[in-house]
Amino acid sequence: MYVKSITLEHYRNLKNTRIFFSEGINVIDGDNAQGKTNLIESLWLFTGGRSFRGARESELIAFGEKQARTELCFHSQDRDQTIALTITGSKRTAVLNDVPKSGLSQIIGSFCAVVFSPDHLTLIKNGPEERRSFIDAAICQIRPSYAAVLSRYKRVLNERNALLKDIPRHRDLEDTLDIWDERLAHEGALAAQERFHYIEKLTGLAETFYAGISDGKESLSLTYKTTYGGQSGMTREELKELILASLLKKQRDDIYCGFTTSGIHRDDLTVTINGREARSFGSQGQQRSAVLALKLAEASVLQQEKGEAPVILLDDVLSELDASRQSYLLHKLEGLQVFITCCDTHIHSDHKLRIADGVVVPEDESHVSPFGQ
Ligand code: ATP
Ligand code: MG
Repeated sequence: MYVKSITLEHYRNLKNTRIFFSEGINVIDGDNAQGKTNLIESLWLFTGGRSFRGARESELIAFGEKQARTELCFHSQDRDQTIALTITGSKRTAVLNDVPKSGLSQIIGSFCAVVFSPDHLTLIKNGPEERRSFIDAAICQIRPSYAAVLSRYKRVLNERNALLKDIPRHRDLEDTLDIWDERLAHEGALAAQERFHYIEKLTGLAETFYAGISDGKESLSLTYKTTYGGQSGMTREELKELILASLLKKQRDDIYCGFTTSGIHRDDLTVTINGREARSFGSQGQQRSAVLALKLAEASVLQQEKGEAPVILLDDVLSELDASRQSYLLHKLEGLQVFITCCDTHIHSDHKLRIADGVVVPEDESHVSPFGQ
C-alpha cells in the first residue's frame, strides 16, 4: 500500500495544495512550527482513527475557516483508490472511492498506517488505557468489525455503571443486574478473544525487534493481564464464563464503588525489559526502543494479516535515536513507503520535501501542483 498524493484545503497551517509522494522514503524537513507534524497527522486521519495528538476535530480546521477538506489518492489491492474527508465543526465525514460513508468507522481498514511520534512514549509511561487503545486500534485496522464489538461493550458497560449508581437508592433494581452481566460477559468475551489472538501474533515479533534494536543485549517481553483470569488459547465460551463469574463475584464491590471493577476495560499489557516493568524501571532510551519494537511489530502483523504493508509515519523519531538504532530502523522499513519528519538532511531519501510556514516545497518542483490544477 502506498500514498500517491494528498490534497489539502484549509487544513491547520498548511497552504492549499496537492502533494505527490514517492513509493519509498519521503523525508519531510523544515524548522520548528512549520507544519511537518500537521502533514503527518493529515495522512494518519485517513485510517479513520482520531488525531494521534489527541486533537479535537475543530482544531484541524485552519484558523478563521469553517471547513477543512483533504483527499488521499492511494494504491491498495492492486488499484488506485481515494478517500475524501470533510471536517466541519466537530464532525468528520468520509467518501471512499466516491461512495459517501455514514461514519468514520466505515473507512477503517481501507487505508492502513502505523504512526510513531515522541508522544507515543505514553504507550509505556501512561496507564493501561493507553495500551488497550493501542491494541484495539491495531485490531480495528485488521478487522474493522471489531470496532462494533468495542462500541457495544462500551454501551453495555455504561448502562451497567448507571444501574450500579441507581441501586443504592432503588434496591429493587438489583435484580436486573444479572441481565447486564450476561450481556457484558458476552461482548467482553468476543473482544478478549480478539485481543488474545492479536497479542499472540504481536509478542514474538516485538521481542525479535527489541532484541535487534538493542543489539541482542536486552530482552523485551509482553504479558496480557486480565482481572478475570483470562488466558491465551481459551475459547470464547471459557472467557465468557470467567468474565461472568468475576462480575457476579464483584457485584457487591461494584454497587459500593458505583462502577464495574472487572472486565476487559481493566485489562493491561505489561511490557518488561530484562524482566523488569518498563513503565517503572525502563530508561528513556529503553522505553523509546520498546515503543519502536511495538510499532514495528504492529506494522508486521498488519502486513501478514492484510497481505500488504501499511504506510509508516515517523514524526520526529529519528533525531531521538542513536546512529545504530536509526540504521536498524531504516533497514527494517526497506521496501515500505515511509514518511519521516526531521531536521537532519543526511538521511537517505527517495523524495525530499521542505516545509516553510505551511508551504510544502519538494526538491523536484513537479511533485506539487497548485491547488485546483
Ligand atoms: P516541530 O519541529 O516543532 O515539531 P512542526 O513543523 O511539526 O514543528 P506543527 O506541529 O506541524 O509544526 O505545527 C505548525 C504550526 O501549525 C504551529 O505553529 C501551529 O500554531 C499551527 N497550527 C496548528 N493548528 C492550526 C490551525 N488549526 N490553523 C492554523 N495553524 C495551526
Ligand atoms: Mg512536529
